[in-house]
Amino acid sequence: MTPLDPLALSGPLWVVAPHPDDEALGCGALLAALAEAGREVWALLLTDGGFSHPASKAYPRPRLSAVRLAEWREGLSVLGVPPARTVALGLPDGALGEHLTAAARAQVRQAFAQARPGTVLLPWERDPHPDHRAAWHLLRGVLPSDTLALEYAVWLPERGADADWPRPDEVEELTFAVGDWRDAKARAIASHRTQLGLIADDPDGFVLAPEMVARALAGPERYFRRFDGGAS
Ligand SMILES: [Zn+2]
Repeated sequence: MTPLDPLALSGPLWVVAPHPDDEALGCGALLAALAEAGREVWALLLTDGGFSHPASKAYPRPRLSAVRLAEWREGLSVLGVPPARTVALGLPDGALGEHLTAAARAQVRQAFAQARPGTVLLPWERDPHPDHRAAWHLLRGVLPSDTLALEYAVWLPERGADADWPRPDEVEELTFAVGDWRDAKARAIASHRTQLGLIADDPDGFVLAPEMVARALAGPERYFRRFDGGAS
C-alpha cells in the first residue's frame, strides 16, 4: 500500500457517485483535502437515489429523489465542491445496469465536457452493489485514455467476498488517511439524513449502519489504480 498524495493528482478532478452518499463514504477525506489545496473538483451523480425506501408513503420516489439530490449537494458543499460543479444524471437507482446505453454514455461525456477530467474517482469494478458495478462499466466506456482513473470502494469491507477484492497483480492500492479531514467527512455523511433513519414509514428501507459510518470515518480511504491503465 502506498500513501496517496492529493497534490500529485492532475485536475480537474471528478468524483463519480452511483448514489448520493457514495462520494462522502468513499472519498470524503480526499475531496476535503483537494478542496483545501484549492484544486478544481467536480461531482457527477449517476442515479436518482429514489429506491432506498420504496414502501414509504411520506417519501414517494419523486420526493425522495429531490431530497437526496439536495442532501448530496449539501454534503459536497461541506467537502468544498460547490453546487455549480455538480451534475446529476437522474438514471434509475437500483437499475443502472439496465441503462448502460449510448444515451447514458453521451450524458457522461457531456458532463465531462464542462471540465475535461485529469483524474476521475469512480467505483471499484467489483464493489458489492449492482449499481456500483454498473457505474464502473458505464464510466470505463467513456473515460479518455489519458485520464487517471482511481477506483474507490464503498461496500467492499462490509460485503465483499474474497473474489471481489483486487488481486495484487491487478492494481496498486493507494491509501489516504482520514486524519485532519475527519470532521468534514463526518458532516458530509451526516448530510444524508434520509439514509440515517429520517424516514420512519418504511421498516425495510435502507439505513446506513453506525458501524459502516464508523469504519468510513476511521479510514484509511482506499483507491485502486490498475496496472493496465484500465483500457477497456
Ligand atoms: Zn451507492
